Amino acid sequence: MRVLVVGGAGYIGSHICKALAERGDTPIVLDNLSRGHRHAVQWGPLVEQDVRDVGVVSEALTEHDIDAVMHFAANIEVGEGQREPLAFWDNNVAGVVSLLNAMERSNVRHLVFSSTCAVYGEPQTLPITEDEPRTPVNVYGQTKHVVELMLEDVSRLGALKYAALRYFNAAGASPDGEIGEEHDPETHLVPNALKAAAGLGGPMHLFGDDYDTPDGTCVRDFIHVMDLAQAHLRALDRLREGSASFACNLGTGTGISVKEILDAVESVTGRPVPHTISPRRAGDAAQLVSDTRLARDLLDFTPAYSDARTIIEHAWAFHAPRWGVSRD
Ligand code: UDP
Repeated sequence: MRVLVVGGAGYIGSHICKALAERGDTPIVLDNLSRGHRHAVQWGPLVEQDVRDVGVVSEALTEHDIDAVMHFAANIEVGEGQREPLAFWDNNVAGVVSLLNAMERSNVRHLVFSSTCAVYGEPQTLPITEDEPRTPVNVYGQTKHVVELMLEDVSRLGALKYAALRYFNAAGASPDGEIGEEHDPETHLVPNALKAAAGLGGPMHLFGDDYDTPDGTCVRDFIHVMDLAQAHLRALDRLREGSASFACNLGTGTGISVKEILDAVESVTGRPVPHTISPRRAGDAAQLVSDTRLARDLLDFTPAYSDARTIIEHAWAFHAPRWGVSRD
């Protein structure tokens, strides 16, 4: 199968390309490299273009004889969205409008869309099922929610079929250390804790230890990026086997606190994680944990690598040599 991976030079997109290639599919990456990395495109050609150019995307779909599309080319940093809402709406929403127009023009019908548990905002019920009201509390979540509404509308007419995959906390790196998380600036917990353990950039900020949770720090559901990749392949297969469009959570069902992640980082690296307790970060929900039943039933999905230790071991194996830090 020939898959256009929009945003395939980024963190999750590049791991999906690797997984596609490993099972014999061909990923063709379309990425403007505004955040992604050329060196992360290793499993097929790179079309260095912006998704908001309908003509260019339509041409790429036809020229590369594309069977299906996956979309990862979004702005994801919550704080940046609050400061620059228009940039988020432009890339995350107008980018998908453009992509859908191009797909219609080139008669490509299957889309796997990268969504997020941020569409639920502050959930009323845990674990979170797909029926939880979608009331996002930040610009990032709003843009993903609005795209899901658009996909519902467009697919109702029959041509498009989509899977919207609502990720919880993606983390880790490819087990062979080939690719991993390389955001700049990095805002995510696991790489930031590893960086602090490596003695780079000073102590990590732990944002809030007075939440209504067992140890006072936020609780998240961490899912290994290669597990996410497998779920994407399954979602694509379901669409191609004739499934109706669907939205599905991707998590493990197990909540891990920020403090527990710091403990696991200390245990894996054998180094302390210097950190300071800082004020709560705006827009952080106290607990986000996925209900996993739909992913299991619909995608036959069970995570293989998503325990905290494996996630951190893989992330550390990726980062340590790049930071010039010994793993002993
Ligand atoms: N966090 C933290 N310090 C950091 C990065 C994150 O304390 O340097 C906390 C953050 O407040 C949240 C959790 O770790 O409670 C997960 O944050 P992350 O940004 O990794 O993912 P999010 O849940 O926002 O998607």
